[in-house]
Amino acid sequence: MEDKDFQMPVPAGIMHMCERLHENGYDSYLVGGCVRDALLGIEPHDYDICTQAVPDKIIALFDDGLCKFYGKAFGTVCVHYADSEAEITTYRTESDYTDARHPGRVDFAQDVREDLARRDFTTNAIAYDPFTGLCDPYGGSDDLKNGVLRAVGDPAARFGEDALRILRGMRFYARFGLVPEPATDRAMREAAPNLARISVERVFTELCGMLRGKHAADVLAAYADILSVWIPEIGEIVEKGLWDKTARAVGAAEVSLQSRFSLMLYHLDAETAGVILRRLRSDTKLRETVCCMLRHKDDCPSTMAELRALRRTMGDARLQRLLHLRETIAATDPDADAAAVARFKALYVECVEKALCCTLAELAVGGRDALALGLRDTTIGIALNDALTEVIEDRIPNEKAALTAFLERYV
Ligand code: ATP
Ligand code: MG
Repeated sequence: MEDKDFQMPVPAGIMHMCERLHENGYDSYLVGGCVRDALLGIEPHDYDICTQAVPDKIIALFDDGLCKFYGKAFGTVCVHYADSEAEITTYRTESDYTDARHPGRVDFAQDVREDLARRDFTTNAIAYDPFTGLCDPYGGSDDLKNGVLRAVGDPAARFGEDALRILRGMRFYARFGLVPEPATDRAMREAAPNLARISVERVFTELCGMLRGKHAADVLAAYADILSVWIPEIGEIVEKGLWDKTARAVGAAEVSLQSRFSLMLYHLDAETAGVILRRLRSDTKLRETVCCMLRHKDDCPSTMAELRALRRTMGDARLQRLLHLRETIAATDPDADAAAVARFKALYVECVEKALCCTLAELAVGGRDALALGLRDTTIGIALNDALTEVIEDRIPNEKAALTAFLERYV
């Protein structure tokens, strides 16, 4: 397919917005992620339009009761029409970056090319006007085809202006397999110390996007140095010679942050992982799950009683995740004890198939039975937990009569 013939599928509501701009003598370029995604054959998740119309003009054009609009901040107007939503932004140039992130100066511009020049990567600097076609002055569509990530203009300058672009680049690599070309790669590494100045929320969001990517393994393997700016503990894993294995395991795991963070930090202890995830301000659930995985990472049950005891302590969801981690490692690390993991798996499957009791909720007696027997207060919990241990270790069947007899000892 020749790019000049590229026809981007545009939802009706977005098309309407472009028509309205066009009828009033303005450009109506779709730009950024939506054009990139469409060229890749992926349905865009949001639409950005850019035009030389200034915000007040945009508002006047769309303030007719049919379109709803809001937000004039930073020259961007968000417009809703017929189930579609787009951010319409006036062409702008950006300069005088101050804090390794934000431009000190923003000026409106007249030409789409001026606007494309401020964007981070060639693949994000492609514009498409439904009436005039593609505008791709940096060869972004060729880079997309060839799987190349290339900074727009001078890479060192671009990462110097805004260090977040380094992490965005790594995320685009992870997501689309766009490999940074040598000058871009070098500039990303050189500017990495500036990442310390980026807000932790942005860092964490980009890191999560990176870890979810199909090519996460390649990104982790290539950029331990950049990741170490926020997670210096990675240095310990690298020193132990375990980073390549770590990267492979992360890339082979299910696409879940809980699994992928657990595997990225697998060769650290649970406490260190907790410190890292607090530093990154992850949510509590993610942090607790990762810590739980690392606390139990050496548990590999080899008998049914061990399996049931582990299911009792961890709960079924976490046990399943631990099994997934162990299987992922077994599949990616030739030194792993694959036979032990296979046994773990077989025990788990058997436990589920036979619906073996592992938790108090599954026990054939409960608090009410204990009360009826005359047990009180903390004795009830102690007696039921002891009963569960007997059942898990196969000394008593999970049957009401046998368990009632056992509980009577506590009266
Ligand atoms: P996603 O699919 O994650 O939304 P995206 O490329 O659309 O990817 P956005 O954050 O939505 O990313 O930004 C839209 C566009 O704005 C980008 O495609 C890029 O052209 C430009 N852009 C965003 N952030 C930056 C930045 N930090 N530096 C330069 N240009 C940027
Ligand atoms: Mg976007």
